[in-house]
Amino acid sequence: MIISMKQNATKEEIEHVCERIREFGYKVHSIQGEQRVVIGAVGVGDVTACLESLEAAPGVESALRISAPYKFVSREFKKERTTIVADGVEIGGDEFVVMAGPCSVENEAQIMETAQRVAAAGAKVLRGGAFKPRTSPYDFQGLELEGLKLLAQAKQATGLAIITEVMSEQWVDQVAEYADIMQLGARNMQNFALLKALGKCKRPVLVKRGMSSTVKELLMSAEYITAHGNPNVMLCERGIRTFETATRNTCDISAVPLLNELTHLPVILDPSHATGKQSLVPALSRAAVAAGADGILVEVHPCPEKAMSDGAQSLTLDQFDALMKSLKAYVGLWKEARLAAALN
Ligand code: PEP
Ligand code: MN
Repeated sequence: MIISMKQNATKEEIEHVCERIREFGYKVHSIQGEQRVVIGAVGVGDVTACLESLEAAPGVESALRISAPYKFVSREFKKERTTIVADGVEIGGDEFVVMAGPCSVENEAQIMETAQRVAAAGAKVLRGGAFKPRTSPYDFQGLELEGLKLLAQAKQATGLAIITEVMSEQWVDQVAEYADIMQLGARNMQNFALLKALGKCKRPVLVKRGMSSTVKELLMSAEYITAHGNPNVMLCERGIRTFETATRNTCDISAVPLLNELTHLPVILDPSHATGKQSLVPALSRAAVAAGADGILVEVHPCPEKAMSDGAQSLTLDQFDALMKSLKAYVGLWKEARLAAALN
């Protein structure tokens, strides 16, 4: 924090401010300036409360936060990339990880066929929502526990790790019994009770960026989970709301390299929700590889036309096969870049 005193601030006022800073658990790092005194404060504490209190203190012109409000998830805190292992699948390491499956788990035949095919094509994680956050209360809400059981069956048959969404804190323990990765949906990115519950959970968490959230807010949500005890967090760019209506969302592709600068956590791109259009998914998947994401989360359905949710953005099984083949050359370059970066 930087606290600028008013030009005519008295010695007593300056000393009082320094005392208040120490009371909040910070160190007075430096006091500079002849005409106008500027005080630097460092440490860990309740920054917001401290800033507000200092702004009300006599003789203070302004009090500003200088470091990022997130700490544990920042690159400054940890330089090396975080790798997360979910049921043997390493995310954030030397392999580009593909997570694929339907938007919703619908029935046994649908999830089993999808799981077999995406596994054969090279995906390592099966996605599928058993709890669905739907804009309309009249839309399919998910199979809940039955959906989780079907995911377990698909895992048993294919060896794929499972990622599935948890929508409320009272379901965290139950979902954690079936999920290898807990998906926190875009609509719940700032559900603070759920963030705290995920902090206490032992499973890795994938945090999807809220559709109207900034990168900083995304990082703050990740910080919540980490600060509450769970460091295994990955971030997911899934498109944000803009004035553009030609696509379902606008993919903020620059968020991928930006997050790689700001945080050590793995970054995943969801090209399905980012575009809402099946035809755009392959190009966005290539963009994810090129931008340095650690993986993608893709919607795939045996018959998108009949999907109970998000059919328009779901690839068919054959299209997914083709996507995986077409990504190979790009992933080869991605690996070279990863290795080169690790050597530097
Ligand atoms: C999903 O992955 O199906 C989903 C609901 O995603 P989001 O939370 O990004 O809308
Ligand atoms: Mn979906």
